[in-house]
Amino acid sequence: MRRVWAVLLLVAAFGMADDNRSLGDRTRQYLTDLVRLDTSNPPGNETRVADYLKKVADSFGIKAEELGDPKDPKRMNFVARLPGSGSKGRPLLLMAHSDVFPVAPDQAKWSADPFGAELKNGYIYGRGTLNAKSLLASELAVMVEIKRRNLKLSRDVILVSEADEEGGMTGIQWLIQNAWSKIDAEFALNEGGSLIESKDGAKVFGIQTMEKIPTRVILTAHGTVGTGALPRADNPYVHLSDAVSRLSKAEQPIRVNSTTRRYLRDLANLSDYAWLAPLLPKLETPATAAAAAAQIRAKNDELDDMLHTTISITSLVASEAQLDVRRMPSETREDVLTRLRQIINDTSVEVAFAPGPPMPTVQAGPRTTMTPLYTAMERAIARIYPRDAVTIPYMSRGATDSGFLRSRGMPVYGVALFLREPGEPRVRSVDERITPKALDDGVELLWQIVQETAGEN
Ligand SMILES: [Zn+2]
Repeated sequence: MRRVWAVLLLVAAFGMADDNRSLGDRTRQYLTDLVRLDTSNPPGNETRVADYLKKVADSFGIKAEELGDPKDPKRMNFVARLPGSGSKGRPLLLMAHSDVFPVAPDQAKWSADPFGAELKNGYIYGRGTLNAKSLLASELAVMVEIKRRNLKLSRDVILVSEADEEGGMTGIQWLIQNAWSKIDAEFALNEGGSLIESKDGAKVFGIQTMEKIPTRVILTAHGTVGTGALPRADNPYVHLSDAVSRLSKAEQPIRVNSTTRRYLRDLANLSDYAWLAPLLPKLETPATAAAAAAQIRAKNDELDDMLHTTISITSLVASEAQLDVRRMPSETREDVLTRLRQIINDTSVEVAFAPGPPMPTVQAGPRTTMTPLYTAMERAIARIYPRDAVTIPYMSRGATDSGFLRSRGMPVYGVALFLREPGEPRVRSVDERITPKALDDGVELLWQIVQETAGEN
C-alpha cells in the first residue's frame, strides 16, 4: 500500500504521461516547483534543480542525466535529449541556468516569500520567475509535450540546465570541457534577449546575438605613505584616488557596430523612441558622437551602454582598486588596457588584468541571422504578434553563458519570451514576478519556435 501511495504521489508531483494539462498549466507547475528550490548562488546547490528535472524527465521516459564535477556534487548540471531523424540537420539546444541571484540583503523588502512562488495580485512572485526559471520551466514543458504527443523530430532537441551562471566554473565551462559531445548543437536558444513594448502596443524583440565582454582590471599604486610630519609626493593612496577619479570622468570612445546600429534604427520607429531618430546620424560622426551619446544617456542609460565600453569601480582597498570593465566586442582587451593607461597617465599606478582566464570574445558573424533557428524565431513572433512586432538582432550589455558556446562556433540566440509591462521589477531585483498570462504566451512562443526548427514538416 505504501508503495502505491508513493507512486501516486510521484504522479501528482511530476505529472505522468496520461495527464492532459495544457502546456501553460504544466509550465506554471514546473515554475512553481523550481522557484521553491532555493538555488541562490552562492552557494548554488543547483543539484536540487538537476534532481527535479531528472525526475520529471524519467517520469516521461526522456533520456537525461546529471553531469558535473564529482568534487562538487551539490552543483550538478542537467542534460536531456529527444532524438530526431537528423533530416533537417544537427541538434537544437535549449538552455537555461539553474542558479539564481541572491535575495539577501533585500529579503525583508519583498512583498511575498521569494521562494514561495505565491500567486498574489495576479502575479507569481519569486526569485527566478524572470531570471531564468520561467525559461527553464518552459523548455522543460516543451520537451515533455513533444514526448507526450510522441511527435517526430527532424533533429535532436537537447535541454541543458547549467549551474553557476552567476558565478564561475562548474556550469557551462565544465560541460564544454568535459561533455562537449552531449551538448554540441547546430545552434542554441538561451536567455539574454530584450523585449521593448511601446505605449501603443508595438513590440521590439531584440534577439541577442552578441554581448559585451566582462574584463576585470586591477590598479595597484606604488609609493611611500609617509606621515603627516613628512608628507610624500609618491603617496600611493593619492595616486590611486587620482587614477580612479580620472577613469570615472573619462569618456570611452563611441563604437557603433552593425548590430547596434540596426537595433537603434528599428527602435527609433516606435513612437516612444522617436526622440532617437535625429541622434542616430550624429553617432556616426566623431565630432558629434559623444554629445549624441550623452543625450541618449539622459533618456535611457541602457541604450547608451551599448555604444561604448563601460567601467565600474567595484572595490577600492588600500593601494588597490578593482574595475569591472564591459568591453565592446570590437575592442581587444589589450586595446582597453592601453587606453586605461593613457587616461590614468601615471607610471606609479600599475594597470593589469585581474588573474584568471579571459572571457571569450565573439562578434556576430554576417550569417548569424540566416540560420533556421533565427528564421523560426522571426516567423513565430510574427505569427503570434501579427500586427505589432519586429524582430531584430541585439547586443546586450550584460553577459550570459552564451559567449562560451559562441566562442566554440555555435550560434546562440538570447530571446525574451515573456512580455512585461513597462516599469515592472527587473531581473535580480526585489519582487521579481511574472503574470500567468506572460508565462502562457511565452511558452506558446517557444513551442512554435521549437516546432518550426525541429518539427518534421
Ligand atoms: Zn540569467
